[in-house]
Amino acid sequence: DNVISIKNINKVYGNEIKTHVLHDINLDFAKGSFSSIIGQSGSGKSTLLNIMGTLDSPSSGDIIINGKSTKNMSKNTLAELRNDTIGFIFQFHHLLPEFTALENILMPYYIKNHKKSKEISERAEELLNLVGLWNVKNNKPMNMSGGQQQRTSIARALINNPSIILADEPTGNLDSETTENIYELMRSINENFKTTFVVITHDNRIAQKTDRIIQIGDGKVLSDTLK
Ligand code: ADP
Ligand code: ADP
Repeated sequence: DNVISIKNINKVYGNEIKTHVLHDINLDFAKGSFSSIIGQSGSGKSTLLNIMGTLDSPSSGDIIINGKSTKNMSKNTLAELRNDTIGFIFQFHHLLPEFTALENILMPYYIKNHKKSKEISERAEELLNLVGLWNVKNNKPMNMSGGQQQRTSIARALINNPSIILADEPTGNLDSETTENIYELMRSINENFKTTFVVITHDNRIAQKTDRIIQIGDGKVLSDTLK
């Protein structure tokens, strides 16, 4: 069962001067798998992840998400599919500075549903417990440590109960102990909820712990190693 299939993806940026960033990429991600994407800066990792998550469109090829081709989907349908199935985690977490941890976690839900409910408040509190943020739920990002901010963005990625989490350098900004804690948190979510993870990382120790290492170089898959 593949939750995401990347079919013959090419990405070319620019009109006058064209940069061919991704070349004929084909990859399948099985339900419940935990994969890492490694490769030098500028090799195309973020472009690939953004295309997988339908945040960016490919120049050719198709992304199949839970069996559905996204090729001819309208922007609205795509946004809905993304909100229902994919959670994103970024290096610089993109938390909203004016809102508390609890409010930040609820944001993707509000975007989708426009109103609060008892169930979602309970779910948000459960998620706060899960990621160990109970005691800082009313803090704004500037009053949280880097690890706490990243935990908040992980809880936010989980609020709509996604089947896929795409993470771009989620530990890029953290010290090694916090990196380890954040990895363990993602791994426990993967094991408990069978959430599929695809994580870009520069950290070889983290990559080595994942189930599969995909190495990208010059926009191509150089190696794909299953453990
Ligand atoms: P990585 O994540 O591996 O560092 P990226 O996917 O960010 O690589 O970038 C791959 C290549 O695509 C780089 O050469 C980068 O300069 C180029 N690139 C990325 N985004 C754009 C864009 N919006 N317009 C033009 N070129 C881009
Ligand atoms: P974790 O390992 O849980 O990700 P960190 O290593 O980032 O957490 O931080 C460990 C603890 O140090 C936090 O739980 C928090 O109590 C405290 N801390 C560190 N930096 C800050 C900060 N800027 N504001 C508030 N508390 C902080």
